[in-house]
Amino acid sequence: MLADAITNNAASPPVHFADASKIAMIELNAVTKSFPVSATQTSYALRSVTMKVMAGEYVTILGKSGSGKSTLLNLVAGLDRPSSGTVRVAGTLLADQSESALARWRGRQVGVVFQFFQLLPTLTVLENIILAMELAAAVPVSRRRSLALDLLARVNLAEHANKLPSMLSGGQQQRAAIARALANDPPIVVADEPTGNLDTETAHDINGLFQQLIMEGKTLFIVTHDTNIAHAAYRVIELKDGLVVSDSAPQTARQTPPNAAQPSAHL
Ligand code: ADP
Ligand code: MG
Repeated sequence: MLADAITNNAASPPVHFADASKIAMIELNAVTKSFPVSATQTSYALRSVTMKVMAGEYVTILGKSGSGKSTLLNLVAGLDRPSSGTVRVAGTLLADQSESALARWRGRQVGVVFQFFQLLPTLTVLENIILAMELAAAVPVSRRRSLALDLLARVNLAEHANKLPSMLSGGQQQRAAIARALANDPPIVVADEPTGNLDTETAHDINGLFQQLIMEGKTLFIVTHDTNIAHAAYRVIELKDGLVVSDSAPQTARQTPPNAAQPSAHL
């Protein structure tokens, strides 16, 4: 089982995590996102949210439907822009970037995983991953195919590389989507309810993959209702009506190994 293999690997922390934890990977400063609902009314998806996530942190975002989770994730991934406030991710101030620059930036810096996978249906699983490499142009052309196959092997999909997404189960499609998110080896992986459409055992596999990514030093920012994922995370941020209402962990979270007790709340 994939997750068991991953758990066995989880004993050795990455060498440089203490240094990495001093680098802010995600910084939101007074970020508001509003939508006009009529000539006189405005609805707020996020209200002056300020947060900082350091390199190597495993953050989950909880909150009821409509609390602003997807809006927050889309801003972090540069898929949407705030109404006011600033978003800096992996050292880049996103407001300064054109749409095309943002697309290139996202390809290299942020792997994005969605609830409904969003693989391109007319491409094979392998082609989906190679396309992500083509869009970011970070991996040399000659290495793309073998690297994509390596990524598929890593998520236990090697024998399905040449199948269309529709031929795979939901869990397999999500693993393929995670392989695609890793195509350009981004430092940050964000996911919006990645196990929301999966059965418990499959969700367990996905959770194991996330733990492996953390052990490699990646920064994870995961919107989830899955309590197993929330328990595995070092830091849980709860949103309510577009506001951060709780934030569980210190920003030095990488100094705590995954299996150690959770750090105590400081807010
Ligand atoms: P969650 O992911 O926590 O369910 P969302 O971030 O999707 O919440 O939405 C937060 C709030 O913002 C909701 O009230 C939603 O209706 C509103 N909202 C989100 N996107 C839009 C939009 N494009 N236009 C109008 N309102 C929106
Ligand atoms: Mg949502």
